[in-house]
Amino acid sequence: MNSRRIGVLGGGQLGRMLIESAHRLNVSVVCLDSDPATPAKQLLGPPVAGTIDCGAFSNAADIRKFVSQSKIDVLTVEIEHVDTHVLDELEAEGKVEVHPAPSTIRVIQDKFAQKEHLTKHGVPTSKYAPVPSVESLQSLAKEWGLPLMLKSKRWAYDGRGNYAVHSEEDIAKAYETLNPKADPEALYAEAWCPFERELAVMVVRDRQGHVVAYPTVETVHTRNICHVVVAPAQIDGLLAARAQEVAKMAVASLSGAGIFGVEMFYLASGEILLNEIAPRPHNSGHYTQDACNTSQFENHVRVLAGLPIGSTDLKVPYAAMLNILGHVPMGDLQRTLASAHASVTVPGSTVHLYGKPGCRADRKMGHINLVAQTFPELQSRMAQLLAADLGVSV
Ligand code: ATP
Ligand code: MG
Ligand code: MG
Repeated sequence: MNSRRIGVLGGGQLGRMLIESAHRLNVSVVCLDSDPATPAKQLLGPPVAGTIDCGAFSNAADIRKFVSQSKIDVLTVEIEHVDTHVLDELEAEGKVEVHPAPSTIRVIQDKFAQKEHLTKHGVPTSKYAPVPSVESLQSLAKEWGLPLMLKSKRWAYDGRGNYAVHSEEDIAKAYETLNPKADPEALYAEAWCPFERELAVMVVRDRQGHVVAYPTVETVHTRNICHVVVAPAQIDGLLAARAQEVAKMAVASLSGAGIFGVEMFYLASGEILLNEIAPRPHNSGHYTQDACNTSQFENHVRVLAGLPIGSTDLKVPYAAMLNILGHVPMGDLQRTLASAHASVTVPGSTVHLYGKPGCRADRKMGHINLVAQTFPELQSRMAQLLAADLGVSV
């Protein structure tokens, strides 16, 4: 159908599910990842002679080799923590198209820069401030009151760069834990958002800059990790539409094509505040694989391959997604796989396993999508899945 070859920086589960969608459209994909047995590469077989797929997506020279030897037309990411300067250079040299734009990936990589960008474009977010020292955090705590959220600007995922500061005694420990080298540029603070619910919207953007939103969903986190997603979010329709508007406004302010995950907080005051954006397929959009006309992965492939955006509508009345996580405290691969297999007996469920050979506590090993005709039916099927031993509770 399409001869453009897509290169993906990173070869985890997002790359794996992207490849599944691309293959159905006859679109060729290659992944760069230093691990030869990543979830994505398991679908691709050995690399074609003369190409490279082993190298670091954080290393400029490896990215350059990957683009030239693997004959990539369009480069994209399944993780935002990549070297964006080499992506700028490659585009300027006319070697490859990069989507989303390197400038977009760069602004999203740094949560503080992301907040500044969103504020400049009128997108509502929580209050935020730089904290170059422990003393500045102490005075901010007096000014704003506690709790507040201390965050690493960069390299954060699954809440690992966050520290909830609840009391004055937490301040020094929080600062030291997230920033042992006391780098004045490493951290910033966010006002605490006492949210009623967490919402998310996937948004796809084509090369011409048109943005189309998927339905608003509710996300439930356990230990800062996305655990359950319910689609559509069981909230007032006007509120759901407002969340879609905020998400589209945010993605419209960025450059380049692709799929974006937009995380938001809904407060009791009725306000919707944007938490963060992911410039790639996102866990809160996995439900689209089995519940929407076109999945988030297929729409990402479509816009990269120059095909039209597919319908983002739900094709079932209700859907949910449940992550399969490594058990706490150790992670146990056999136990995880056994419970995942047992859960396939729940009607309306589809299991997606990622083929990860190692299993740590809370590691994302797979997910289960669930569809139903009524909300009570979804709830009862969800209860059956939650009762299975999927490694989600302590
Ligand atoms: P992800 O895996 O989504 O990339 P992350 O490490 O980037 O996670 P955040 O999305 O910043 O982390 O935060 C993780 C979770 O912590 C949020 O989903 C939310 O539950 C909570 N949280 C984050 N910021 C705040 C805040 N300002 N106030 C209250 N809770 C917050
Ligand atoms: Mg994040
Ligand atoms: Mg997040």
